[in-house]
Amino acid sequence: MMKTRAIVCILLACVAKANELPGRWSGDYPPCDGHAELVSQGGLELGVRFSTTRRDLAEEFASAMDFWASILDLEWHAVDNSSCAIQLVDGPEGFFKPAQVARAQFPDAPSFQGIIAFNPAVSLTRSELFLAAVHEVGHVLGLEHSSHSSSLMYFLRTDGPLFLDEADLQTLATRHKLRLRTRGAPVLVSFKSFQQLSSANRSESNRQVRRLPSANGRFPQFHPPRHLHF
Ligand SMILES: [Zn+2]
Repeated sequence: MMKTRAIVCILLACVAKANELPGRWSGDYPPCDGHAELVSQGGLELGVRFSTTRRDLAEEFASAMDFWASILDLEWHAVDNSSCAIQLVDGPEGFFKPAQVARAQFPDAPSFQGIIAFNPAVSLTRSELFLAAVHEVGHVLGLEHSSHSSSLMYFLRTDGPLFLDEADLQTLATRHKLRLRTRGAPVLVSFKSFQQLSSANRSESNRQVRRLPSANGRFPQFHPPRHLHF
């Protein structure tokens, strides 16, 4: 039998190998006129539009935004109009490669509108949704794929802890204003610890998303997360 090494896996992003520049794509989505805010060097004030019918995705995406607000000088709020800087959408059929969870645009691309598309055909756990959302938001903030497998920005999710590592933080610091307490050491990106933290300190924007009527649409039936074996 072929020996396999289980990589729990989420093909987190956009392309099939590390270091390839993601996100040069466009589509027929409502505009996000506030996307220029994402290339601002100062503090970020981001409107986030939740154009998804998946409540679990919307909620974990909101937690991912809270995570980024703990790393960068960033505040965010939910909007339902073209003032958005980031827009979460359900990607259309045929838009993804097999097992691809999500795609994000890259801010240096001419077509950039701050769009992050998740694949409705792939069912994920809450933890996987959170980690995938943090990864994809990392792209719209200007992070490319890392060649380090322990980095959150690695193109696959492997077993083991994930970090925003020193290289990720250095890149972020060239584009955005980091909060002082996050400088230096790698930052663990943990769904469990972040949920414990955010249950007490969840932002008002996060709580607002959890009450959004637009997230009350059809929910996908739960299926076990897809595991890829290499
Ligand atoms: Zn990616």
